[in-house]
Amino acid sequence: MIFSRGYLCRALLLLLIMASLPLAHVSAWGFYAHKRINYQAVFSLPPEMIGFYKSHIQYISENAVNPDRRRYAVKGEAEKHFLDADAYGDSAIYTLPRYWEDAVAVYGEDSLRAHGIAPWSTYQTFLQLVRAMQSRDTKAILRISADLGHYVGDIHVPLHTTKNYNGQLSGQYGIHAFWESRIPELLADGFDFFVGKATFVENPQLAIWKVITNTHEAVDSVLNAERELSATWPEHKKYSYEERGGINTRVHSKAFTMAYQSMLDGQVERQMRKTIKFTADLWYTAWINAGQPSLSPSVDMDFFEQQEKFAPLKELENIREHEGQSDTSLLPWVNTHWKRKEEGSGTLTG
Ligand SMILES: [Zn+2]
Repeated sequence: MIFSRGYLCRALLLLLIMASLPLAHVSAWGFYAHKRINYQAVFSLPPEMIGFYKSHIQYISENAVNPDRRRYAVKGEAEKHFLDADAYGDSAIYTLPRYWEDAVAVYGEDSLRAHGIAPWSTYQTFLQLVRAMQSRDTKAILRISADLGHYVGDIHVPLHTTKNYNGQLSGQYGIHAFWESRIPELLADGFDFFVGKATFVENPQLAIWKVITNTHEAVDSVLNAERELSATWPEHKKYSYEERGGINTRVHSKAFTMAYQSMLDGQVERQMRKTIKFTADLWYTAWINAGQPSLSPSVDMDFFEQQEKFAPLKELENIREHEGQSDTSLLPWVNTHWKRKEEGSGTLTG
């Protein structure tokens, strides 16, 4: 065990405090990647949509992390971020009922929620977006588009699809944040995020299942590569120390991170690219299914400046820790890093 009980308690406390703070001071697992994904997805949209989304690109990317901020504040939120497919048996991902009612009939709702409901709830979020577009509700369109990008992101992370979500069952504790936070933060600058134009998705519900099935198939390589690499890397080379918010924090070293990424043959970049494309595809498909409403930029500045408040609930304090808590130390750093990239990217022009 790498982290002491005291450390975990402190991390959890910090997390609860963070959940109630405005976004500018808050961050969490994979925040950088989530923001980046929503940001990039905008550029794959067709001409009829891109103007609207571009004019709200800051909102769309900043709020890509709302679903994570709700985890400790809204009952029923946490289970939307994962699916422990292997909790139902080794090859269950291929046989789990694709439709919610069928799944409830077989397993019961409580049991489904305990093991995560990501693919079913991602589809629900998609349907909400269609409805928001049908009623031309600008605020809802933006809020739900941001949420949808987040959930699409989660179903592209292999460790969101297994009960061994943080390597805790295989002696690889901490691998979750390593894969989904540390790698993108260190290496995303060199990633190619141009994924082409959004395409219409014929059957979004089954397409979501196809995505999560492909993602789940990558679980073994995520774990095996880390295990294999760790066997030949001494601890002092595998980890380094960086200052995060005034605290000297142990992180995976850059050399180890690069070695891992290359051993996985660019898997993290591939998954980020797929997420960007599929997010844009679903935004586009929602718009088509809603009858291609004309989208006009909102002028209600109050809406964009206000951050939704998510007050932590006492009853959710002991919620399952799905992602690497060590990463709370990255919070202020991610935001500065993000701001710098955003300013320097220049992608917005043109
Ligand atoms: Zn999430």
